[in-house]
Amino acid sequence: MSGQPDYSFFAAVEKSFDKAAVFTGWDAGILEQIKQCNYVYRMHFPVKIGDKIEVIKAYRVQHSHHKTPCKGGIRFAMSVNLDEVMALAALMTYKCAIVNVPFGGAKGGITIDPKKYTAYELEKITRRYTAELIKKNFIGPGIDVPAPDYGTGEREMSWILDTYMSMRPGEIDSMGCVTGKPVSQGGVRGRREATGLGVFYGLREVCNMTDVMSKIGLETGVEGKRVVVQGLGNVGYHTAVFFQQAGAKIVGLAEYEGAIWNNDGFDVDTVFNHRKLSGSILNFPGARNFDSTDEALEMECDILIPAALENVVNATNAPRIKAKIIGEAANGPLTPEADEEFIRRNVLVVPDMYLNAGGVTVSYFEWLKNLSHVRYGRMEKRFTENMNNHILGQIEELTSKQVSAKERDFIMHGAEEVDLVRSGLEETMITATREIMEIWKSNPTIPDMRTAAYVCAINKVGTSYAELGIFP
Ligand code: NAD
Repeated sequence: MSGQPDYSFFAAVEKSFDKAAVFTGWDAGILEQIKQCNYVYRMHFPVKIGDKIEVIKAYRVQHSHHKTPCKGGIRFAMSVNLDEVMALAALMTYKCAIVNVPFGGAKGGITIDPKKYTAYELEKITRRYTAELIKKNFIGPGIDVPAPDYGTGEREMSWILDTYMSMRPGEIDSMGCVTGKPVSQGGVRGRREATGLGVFYGLREVCNMTDVMSKIGLETGVEGKRVVVQGLGNVGYHTAVFFQQAGAKIVGLAEYEGAIWNNDGFDVDTVFNHRKLSGSILNFPGARNFDSTDEALEMECDILIPAALENVVNATNAPRIKAKIIGEAANGPLTPEADEEFIRRNVLVVPDMYLNAGGVTVSYFEWLKNLSHVRYGRMEKRFTENMNNHILGQIEELTSKQVSAKERDFIMHGAEEVDLVRSGLEETMITATREIMEIWKSNPTIPDMRTAAYVCAINKVGTSYAELGIFP
């Protein structure tokens, strides 16, 4: 792809870090320690596939131990390499710090094409990888807690959990050794849509800031905003749905086969089902077709949400982007060169590092649930409902008026697990957005929101080192 940077992913993360570090007061030694990957574990192990032995290459990187356990997903993809795993582990440290999730960053990956293996073969690879992590003390509820990422999901997390429990029998908190599990195996309700919902909460908060909106020439609020989303996978689909529910117009949608446009806006579920049935997003009734997915990025809109791949907006196409706000739902969709262009043109880039933190935030809630061994809401739901019923009865008696059945249902409702998870996520994303914006506003020489987010992260990790001291 043209316009791609000629430096590595980890080098790009280091570049962004260095750009922000000058706005912090930490000494060079602390900054260097924050930046480096603490543990890098590269492994090869054999797995019997049919009548052959395959040597599998895999990684686990723990970027920071300023807080433990470490946390980060596991990718299964042919593109997995050490540089990518290091970069993603570093981003996890900064992401967790910004959203006040008390973990150090980590990431793992296996260099395989998961489509080439049967479920049984993938299970063997996943279990052997987990066994290697256990042998080196690289996994555990207090050590390092993996999660799903590209190419992995609930199924793989279940295999990891089962392998861990088989090799560490009787460990009472073993459920917390991995997150992103099925709800029936210690997972938490609300995890599946968490990243998309977090993207929505973060962007909604930005759109509600009158001063920020007036600076880029947009009205306050989400309602009526024209939104384009690239990638209708887990993150993109849910983000689009939540924007539509809030009254935004989804005018453009893109998948790898192309893009569609309708100035009146799409119903996201109808497009999703059309793609499921026809095998393509194209030829949706009433929509204009574009053969290349990248054309979606250049569509006329208020908010552009790349939710598929990295480096899709780069030096080549950044000058043609028309959106006023770019919400980075994917990891690394903009190159540093694109960032420079948007700073020049006063386009607001809401950075991936915190915007897509909904997944890890809810993973944190899952881990807490596993350590407490009880479902959220189990203890208080009925109590709340009974109490609300009693208070409502008193009010009705005193006022001699009755609330409607709909209002009664709303007031009576005791929180379910999913209500509490969503409430915690909303609080997290609003607080993080405000914190980053405060840092940006307090120093007008900080060029963009990404740099402000890095400053926020560096200060939090730096404070840990300063307060805990350096051992010995
Ligand atoms: P996914 O596999 O569910 O969805 C990706 C979607 O993008 C798929 O529908 C795919 O067909 C589409 N796609 C692939 N190539 C494309 C192209 N060239 N143009 C347009 N669409 C294309 O993955 P996901 O979980 O939604 O992740 C998307 C991005 O969000 C990744 O960068 C990922 O690292 C990041 N992310 C995901 C999570 C999470 O919780 N899932 C959390 C944080 C960040």
